[in-house]
Amino acid sequence: PSPLVCATERMNWPAPAGESPSRGACSFPGAGSLSPAPGEDYCCICMDGIREKKTLEKCRHSFCRPCIDQAFQFKAACPVCLTFYGTQIGDQPRGGSMAVTRWTSRLPGYEPYGTIVIDYTIPSGVQERGHPNPGAGFTGTSRRAFLPDCADGQRVLRLLQRAFEQRLTFTVGTSATTGLSNVVVWNDVHHKTSTHGGPQGFGYPDPGYLLRVQEELRLKGIT
Ligand SMILES: [Zn+2]
Ligand SMILES: [Zn+2]
Repeated sequence: PSPLVCATERMNWPAPAGESPSRGACSFPGAGSLSPAPGEDYCCICMDGIREKKTLEKCRHSFCRPCIDQAFQFKAACPVCLTFYGTQIGDQPRGGSMAVTRWTSRLPGYEPYGTIVIDYTIPSGVQERGHPNPGAGFTGTSRRAFLPDCADGQRVLRLLQRAFEQRLTFTVGTSATTGLSNVVVWNDVHHKTSTHGGPQGFGYPDPGYLLRVQEELRLKGIT
């Protein structure tokens, strides 16, 4: 039980003459029933049920993914047991590769520059602890992504390379596009998988993209 301070008790303090403050009489309707008890599916950061469960790799404590990502911006340590995560490591399947090539063709909105082409390959394998179905197989993937070969694009490339080394680029889950489960999926770092088509087509032009993806990477400790 967390040491919740009863708001009505605080407002009435000190108690009116003739009445003694009665701790037992003060109750939150719904307290303890709206929120699940601390345990497997309880996030101690938002003090509610876990949404988008994320389990830390070393200590196995679980939180909402948005909650723990935000907490790690301030201190890279587990809020429950203080295990240090100075370099955040994800659960991207091992053994993948990230190859970088350059094309002379231009991306819409970045006409003076060539194109950086990233080819990711994650082989199929067996899910580990932290994945949705440990012990079960998962299907790998090959993805191609594009960046403009300008200074900002080159900076994003370096950040993406670090994210990949820290196993933060992909995870195992259910594909939002195909609905298939036990597949390798992107892990909240958006990539431009088309050269054209704009934001709706996962391509360019999209003037805000390079800033947005740097913010997404910052949330994962990649700066
Ligand atoms: Zn939470
Ligand atoms: Zn922990």
